[in-house]
Amino acid sequence: MTDAYRQIVDSATTGIAALDARNYITIANPQMADMLGCTIAELTGRSLAEFLDYPTPAVSIPRDQYDWKLRRKDGADLWVIANITPMNDEKGEYAGAVCVFTDITERKLAERQLVHDALTGLPTRPLLLDRLANSLARPRSSSGSISAILYLDLDRFKLVNDSLGHAVGDKLLVIVARRLELCVRPGDFVARSGGDEFVLLLEELKTPAEAETVAVRVLQEMLKPAVLNGHELIVTASIGIALCAGQSKTPEDILRDADTAMYRAKASGKARLAWFDPHAPLQPVDRLRIETDLRRALDRGEFWVEYQPIMRLQDRSLFAYEALLRWKHPQRGAVSPVEFIPVAEETYQILPIGWWVLEEACRTFHDWDSRLEIPDGVAMHVNLSGLQFMEPDLIERIENILERTSLDPGRLKLEITETVFIEQAISNRASLAALKDLGVRLVVDDFGTGHSSLSYLSRFPVEMLKIAGSFVAGLGQDTGNTEIVRAVLNLSQRLHMQVIAEGIETQEQSDILSEMRCTLGQGYLLSQPLKASDAELLLTYIA
Ligand code: C2E
Ligand code: MG
Ligand code: MG
Repeated sequence: MTDAYRQIVDSATTGIAALDARNYITIANPQMADMLGCTIAELTGRSLAEFLDYPTPAVSIPRDQYDWKLRRKDGADLWVIANITPMNDEKGEYAGAVCVFTDITERKLAERQLVHDALTGLPTRPLLLDRLANSLARPRSSSGSISAILYLDLDRFKLVNDSLGHAVGDKLLVIVARRLELCVRPGDFVARSGGDEFVLLLEELKTPAEAETVAVRVLQEMLKPAVLNGHELIVTASIGIALCAGQSKTPEDILRDADTAMYRAKASGKARLAWFDPHAPLQPVDRLRIETDLRRALDRGEFWVEYQPIMRLQDRSLFAYEALLRWKHPQRGAVSPVEFIPVAEETYQILPIGWWVLEEACRTFHDWDSRLEIPDGVAMHVNLSGLQFMEPDLIERIENILERTSLDPGRLKLEITETVFIEQAISNRASLAALKDLGVRLVVDDFGTGHSSLSYLSRFPVEMLKIAGSFVAGLGQDTGNTEIVRAVLNLSQRLHMQVIAEGIETQEQSDILSEMRCTLGQGYLLSQPLKASDAELLLTYIA
């Protein structure tokens, strides 16, 4: 190291050390030595692992920032935020690392003072996270024992609080805390993670089934009536279980897994347990969770819109775009509309969300048009939920959006699923007519899935329908499906309705559709849904 570098390293206020491939210290600055309570000479040549408060894997370090607990030479605790930058040799193998430690012992000790809940005396979340971090950092002991988290939430606790008062609610929480302590073994850890939520960390389990046994014991313990101010109460709880396993999982990850499982237990009927299932990250029973998170998604800007081209099959020129809503959940990543749109409809959140999509799509299309002069006839399709259709001020809303975004109504087509269309066409005829007067056209989406007939549709102001992808998927394979598609195409041609085939994935499907004189299509074969910027790019040379 040059003198200049040495000076920089030595004058840093953080502890800095370099490690070799075996994690032995090769260089350390005075601050590092101070923190660990020894001299630089004493540090060099020793393994960093000797200072860690728990055994850590000897080999390379997977993540780069840790909350680490170390032991000073004098035996005192040292808490640091450790920033570790691993280095590889030419062969790409781990060659050591540079560590920068920031001392956070004082902060940790201060937190320790607050880590016990005043009401129940149980440890709170920070202590739980520490304990969990230790549990995760410990390599599986030779006996192969495992750890698990039980995440418990009382059912209908709010009802107790609201009807009997907070004092009774508090007493109940204390009773629950004492019962939980009875259900675990001495080494286990019971914490209150907030409100009516408790967390049990079970260590040294031989099998996952043992965690379930404890959970069942807790559920049974809860069923015993509690007498509070003369009221006899039975409270039940829902429990989610997650194993503390998985190389890359943080304590927060594990808690979230268990929490997710707990929601599933609640959604499937309360007073029961559920395992976290990594292969089913978003089952219908996660609805409760989606519902909560959807409420915030619009404000937090978690939605965006993608545009899938609808093309002429003959030459793949652009006929229209369909706007498709996308949601990136902060923890789960992308969630499919197939999962969340039904929840949004059930909870009426589709109204603000759906109007947002319409405005976004109209604005985007007008933007493109002002820059590129989109050829006449190319339109923007937007999906409209049945609930949007039922809004009393439907026409006004659409008019307002068109006005605000300066989009020509002739550019807009609204897709409504077949079932909704039929219901609305009967009960809401006036709206259909008003939309037509406005110059906005209607498309029947997912045609064929709703048991309706073409002749029926022909009586309403609709010029276009989309054959559901499930029929297109069977083309050439399934004669039944093929015949349905043929019949729909024949009749729609006679009724002068345009048809778009959805979900075209193979050239064979496209060829069969062309043979049947279907001219318009949409699907992965032609193009995936595109980000707005890519859709604009495509417009520059395809339209
Ligand atoms: P949809 O309106 O029938 O949209 C077509 C769906 O098929 C889209 O799924 C699209 O990504 C998908 N798709 C396109 N090409 C292919 C293909 O080749 N193969 C297969 N298997 N699928 C293909 P996505 O985006 O997941 O949307 C699903 C449904 O969610 C939509 O079906 C629509 O009913 C609803 N949806 C999406 N965005 C909105 C929205 O803004 N408002 C409302 N109300 N519903 C929406
Ligand atoms: Mg659609
Ligand atoms: Mg469709």
